Amino acid sequence: MKEIINCVDCISNDLIQIVIDDGLLVSRKESEIKEHETVFIGPGLLDIQINGFSGVDFNTFPIVENDFLKVVNNLSKEGVLSFFPTVITNSDTNIINLLKNINELCLQNPLIDAYVSGIHLEGPFISPIKEASGAHSKDYIKAPDWELFQAFQEASGNRIKIITISPEWDNSTDFISKCTANDIIVSIGHTVASNEQINAAVNAGASMSTHLGNGAPLSLHRNSNIILDQLANNSLTPSIIADGFHLPDNFLNIVLNVKKSNVILVSDSTMFAGMDAGVYHAHIGGKVKLEKGGRLSTYKNENVLAGSAVSLLNCVNKLFSSNMLSLANAWAMASRKPMSIVNLSANPDDFVLFKIKNNAIKIIRVVKSGKQIFVKA
Ligand SMILES: [Zn+2]
Repeated sequence: MKEIINCVDCISNDLIQIVIDDGLLVSRKESEIKEHETVFIGPGLLDIQINGFSGVDFNTFPIVENDFLKVVNNLSKEGVLSFFPTVITNSDTNIINLLKNINELCLQNPLIDAYVSGIHLEGPFISPIKEASGAHSKDYIKAPDWELFQAFQEASGNRIKIITISPEWDNSTDFISKCTANDIIVSIGHTVASNEQINAAVNAGASMSTHLGNGAPLSLHRNSNIILDQLANNSLTPSIIADGFHLPDNFLNIVLNVKKSNVILVSDSTMFAGMDAGVYHAHIGGKVKLEKGGRLSTYKNENVLAGSAVSLLNCVNKLFSSNMLSLANAWAMASRKPMSIVNLSANPDDFVLFKIKNNAIKIIRVVKSGKQIFVKA
């Protein structure tokens, strides 16, 4: 059955007509027609920091093919059409096994390969200070080690495109220079680095800040601290977890006002994202409570967050529906912006159609590689 859909590009505002025949994209071209009820079209979302989804954890070995496909399928319904599985601090052997595991899944399954556009390695070269390292295991945190990193990169099949490190280590500038010479993006995170160390890292090639405002000590110097120093540095593009729980609105507003459109939204989701509300057991932190709406806390103390449990789409929705960002900017910060930072161009055959209902984005169709993979009943 042939369907003609007239829609509005949510970033450029251009009118677009797409034709889908039997679930396949036939054409996509400019249009003159604006339908009465607006349908928006946007590029697929790209999540560059995701630790798991739908009960599947990218940091628990082994990750089996069917579980990974479940993540792909469920993220698609949320408009996320590519992502960077994020492997965090662990023993060298475990990191290597997980990276090999992800690479093998990509090599054996073209669908998985089409979704995994890189790997984010968050650690183990981060701050050993507990208040900055957070959930990362202190036992495995260490100074940057280029040889070890090369072993990680080999295990990943050269898929590591972003590494989060703390520049507080003495040899970090040397390590950062080697990364950037090899087209690996260095992001500053889980750190208590001084302003001098941050500036030295940027001079060596660091270009991002990982989940700015999280993975940081609770108390900081009022005038000079790792958040202000990174905000003040125009060469750094921060990512933020805009799930509505990790950062207060005022903090989000400050980041968006200072950095303008130079911000990336990430979910940083744990395996609990996409699951039903309930009490679960997490391998880090024990019992956790997931509330409807995606707030995840420790069971013992509900004031303590136990990670993020929403999709990237929820983050876009949060910033759009609370009027902190226009629809165009919110969608771009979760698609075009991260794509440009990691040197990916948007695939015109990957897109999402949605409507705005009650001030929230409601996905109605998803097309990946020219094939319709989701239609809202
Ligand atoms: Zn983190």
